[in-house]
Amino acid sequence: MRKKVIAGNWKMNNDLYGTINLISDLKKELNEKNVEADVIICPPFTSLETASTLLKDSTIKLGAQNMYLEESGAFTGEVSVSMLKSVGCEYVILGHSERRTIFSEGDQVINKKIKTAIKFGLKPIFCIGETLEEREKGITFKVVETQVQNGLKDLSESDLSNLIIAYEPVWAIGTGRNATPQQAQEVHQFIRGLISKLYSPNFARQLVIQYGGSVKADNAKELLSQPDIDGALVGGACLNADSFAKIINASLR
Ligand code: PEP
Repeated sequence: MRKKVIAGNWKMNNDLYGTINLISDLKKELNEKNVEADVIICPPFTSLETASTLLKDSTIKLGAQNMYLEESGAFTGEVSVSMLKSVGCEYVILGHSERRTIFSEGDQVINKKIKTAIKFGLKPIFCIGETLEEREKGITFKVVETQVQNGLKDLSESDLSNLIIAYEPVWAIGTGRNATPQQAQEVHQFIRGLISKLYSPNFARQLVIQYGGSVKADNAKELLSQPDIDGALVGGACLNADSFAKIINASLR
């Protein structure tokens, strides 16, 4: 019922030449006619316009990795939502754990960014997830609940019609240590139940919830076959066209 959504977060990798090569390899690897999933790539800001041109004849969609919360103005070094729209972005990753920890982005900032993205029709991929310390303390559900409540504060069901949530346990990101399919499913089910309570069962049923954290070609199938896992947000493994294509193919029923 829910279409799988596989997104690749390139992070701070690939200059313009690397971008051209990776997109060209990916288009060769993917037999796009047979891909039932929605595929999104999120290159760095400097590659977005080129990526958009290269993807014109493709079903692969384009996303950014971040944006600023204000619409325009004196914010040296920042990139606005309309700038992203103007270079062909359809999605934006918000609240990634690297933004939360390295750049000290809190729930309030993320909430404002989600509102700005929605106002301009950019689809948010809203990342949440607990640290290892929080998991070991047994407060995973509490942490995730707070992030959802604060991140989506004052947003209605209709505001959120294009929302994607990405559950990314911080201890699994870039560590090679993925959550087991059971651990991931347990949290995804909790998030769907929470959305059902905060909004409605209908809205929760159609919400795409991706898993992220060391998804690789060899663990994707099992993770993606869990009932509440609707896709993957992929870091390291999306930088190689062959492994990203294998993950996309693993999402096929
Ligand atoms: C990420 O950064 O969102 C991510 C999931 O990274 P990795 O796949 O490398 O763990």
